Amino acid sequence: MSFIAEKFGEISPSQTLAITAAAKKMREEGKDIASFGAGEPDLDTPQHIKDAAIEALQNGATKYTPATGIPELKEAIQEKFLLENQIEYDISQISVNCGAKHSCYNAILATCDAEDEVIIPAPYWTSYPEMVRLAGAEPYIVETKKENGWKITPEEFEDAISGRTRMLILNSPGNPTGAVYTKEELEALVGVAVSEDVLILSDEIYEKLVYGDTKHVSVAALSEEAKNLTITINGHSKVYAMTGWRLGYTAAPPEIAKAISIIQSHTTSNPTSFAQYGGIAALQGDQSMISDMVDEYDMRRQYMMSRLQNISNVDIVEPQGAFYFLVDTSKMGLNSMNLTEKLLSRYEVAAVPGIAFGHDHSIRLSYATGLDIIKKGLDRFEEFCLAH
Ligand code: PMP
Ligand code: GLU
Repeated sequence: MSFIAEKFGEISPSQTLAITAAAKKMREEGKDIASFGAGEPDLDTPQHIKDAAIEALQNGATKYTPATGIPELKEAIQEKFLLENQIEYDISQISVNCGAKHSCYNAILATCDAEDEVIIPAPYWTSYPEMVRLAGAEPYIVETKKENGWKITPEEFEDAISGRTRMLILNSPGNPTGAVYTKEELEALVGVAVSEDVLILSDEIYEKLVYGDTKHVSVAALSEEAKNLTITINGHSKVYAMTGWRLGYTAAPPEIAKAISIIQSHTTSNPTSFAQYGGIAALQGDQSMISDMVDEYDMRRQYMMSRLQNISNVDIVEPQGAFYFLVDTSKMGLNSMNLTEKLLSRYEVAAVPGIAFGHDHSIRLSYATGLDIIKKGLDRFEEFCLAH
């Protein structure tokens, strides 16, 4: 007899984290792995952010804080939403969570019941369907098309809605595709959501990582109606290279914000006290490192584009945001687990299998890694492709 909860039976471990751990282990064993694994900035957290957390720690910020975060950090987030996203939130609508992953899970737990369906456009970030299952609800996957830039259309959204639909998860800029929805595309999706009374979880963690003329638009900024049905999620991990700090945040309609605060008060309590002070310094301090970082990612993105476009048996769509390429490997006829296993064991290149994102004939390559590793990894990947 198994003591494991039934709802846990179908849930698989995070492949994005697993592949990164496998690559790290092989590197420790002396192998020269080129890793395109996790979406984790290769830069360190800026010094002024570290200093603020160290100072807070020295000054005794070592105790519980209010469960959803210290008021000063929530005020900094409120101001960020107002100035950068043109969304006016009351402080009571904002909560600080233990990473944006936690923000997403809180939001799903707060809004979804056992019979509810959550529409998730595929390719999706690997954790969304599993979080929905953990909450006891059901993911409803909509396969988007490469020719639509991997974006769900209003028609596809409308067709997917049933009497059980509770929520649509949107992630723009998107992981793993790098797709960024335009204002018009978002307006059309919001139109459907409003008329069908469906919530939108808008995961905007890659907001600042957009390239060329691409603009990020926040769903809740589109209209009062949009704001009333949108849960906005963002965080410090990607933009300030703070993945280990575990800081994410949520802004939601009042009733949902209240439910999230209750869930958090009974589960994790507050995000780490002194990390929150680093979070304030990040939002209020010098932002110039962001444009330098975006320029660096853009340079890597263009380099990878030029290399990948020259490999005849793979296809790519130019990513407009985030730091990933979803490489379509259908022409090689291998499933993504086989492909990434071979790539890792024989060519010492780590990539995430597309199956983790609901698209089996692809792999994800992250360019949150130095150009020297990217070059080496692509030389080996090219060799692999030539041999298949
Ligand atoms: N959303 C998306 C789309 C992501 O790729 C990630 C991965 N980091 C997260 C949320 C979670 O971020 P965090 O590290 O802040 O939990
Ligand atoms: N989100 C990142 C990724 O997709 C980090 C790992 C994770 O949280 O899943 O690689």
